Order: sequence, then structure tokens, then C-alpha cells
Amino acid sequence: MMRTTHFQEELESRAGVKLQLRINDNYSTMLSVRWEPDHTKVSLHRMFLQAPRNVMDSLACYLQGKDKKMAPTIRCFIEKNVKTLDYSQEMDKNRLSTRGKVYDLQEIYSKINQEYFGGRLNVNITWFGRAQRRKRSHVNLGLYFDSRKLIKIHRMMDTEAFPKYVVSYIIYHEILHNVCPGYHENGMHKVHTKEFKELELQFREYQLAQNWLKEHHVNIFKGLI
Ligand SMILES: [Zn+2]
Repeated sequence: MMRTTHFQEELESRAGVKLQLRINDNYSTMLSVRWEPDHTKVSLHRMFLQAPRNVMDSLACYLQGKDKKMAPTIRCFIEKNVKTLDYSQEMDKNRLSTRGKVYDLQEIYSKINQEYFGGRLNVNITWFGRAQRRKRSHVNLGLYFDSRKLIKIHRMMDTEAFPKYVVSYIIYHEILHNVCPGYHENGMHKVHTKEFKELELQFREYQLAQNWLKEHHVNIFKGLI
């Protein structure tokens, strides 16, 4: 690994600005910049210590602050490298809440893992949000965080009003984000790839779940609409 001081000197000379640099190793900040009049404050994820020349050039350019839009080169670099980060071991598993009033996420997840993936997946799961939905709020029913291998399922589904096969389907969908990572094409980040959609169809109650969601005006990405 390149020494941080050397890295800072190199970046400063490329950018031509004085930097207050922090290299971090957490999953919440990949790149954060504040442009001050006499220096630039920057927090960079350690992944940048191994960044190739073209990414360093774009980064230097970005740090100058003339163009405050992040170059696609940098964005792609981050997205590609984020996938290789694995903080799942550092996560405090005691903070995960899997047992709800009606549904036990761990139980449903384990069943899907066995049934469809031979039990080989190692993904964390937890409830998030409040059971009571605020009026007109758009919520995600399910989310997947790659660096923590963590699925979050919205607590508003923890009720008999949502059939078990719908909850299972949402979990299955989020699991596929772990099984089937997205990729870049023409500057677009594709997550629901062709392979993803094919696998999704293999969920046994896929059509049933889709029909239920449609009938109840639930959009899997926006919650109740
Ligand atoms: Zn999705």
C-alpha cells in the first residue's frame, strides 16, 4: 500500500491545491469534499490508495473545484470497488432485528436460502422503519446494502395484511441483488439485469406475489402508492 503522506503529496501536486486529507475505512464515506478558500477538505476511502492513473487525474481535477460534478470515471471506480468491500464481519449482529410481530425474517430468509440456493448464501437481514406508515410517504419495501451484505425489510410488512408469499418475494428479490451484482453499460448502472430478471421468475409464487402487489397498489420500490 502506498504511504498516505506520499499519496497526499502526489494528489496535491496533481490538483495544485492544498489538501486536508483523511483516508477512511468505513462503508459510509467513499469520497466527500469541502472546498474552503485556502484549502480543500477531503475524506477518501482507502480504495483510492490503489486508484489507477486516470481515476487519480479525474480526482485531482474534481478537487480543484472548478467543476463540482463528479466525473463518471470516479463514480464507476467507486461503484466497482464498493462491491469488493466486505464489512459484514464488522457489523454488530446484535443490532439486527429479525423477529417481528408476525414474520420472522431470519426464518423466511433461511428457507429461501435452502430452497433456492442450497444454503450457500451468507447475507444478513433486518427489519427497518416503523410499522405505521406515514401518510403519502414513499418507502422502499426492501433494500440491499452490498458492503454489509445486508437486506433491510420495511416493518410495515410485518402484518397479516401482507401475505407471507409477498414478504418472501421481497426478500427473494433483495437476495438476488447479492447473487447477481449490477454492472455498468453506457454510463448507466444496471441492477435489474437480464440474468436478475430470469432468476426472479424462478420464485415459485412470483406471479401470485406480482398480482397481489398490483391489486393492492403496492410498488415494490415505492411502497403503497
Ligand atoms: Zn431491486
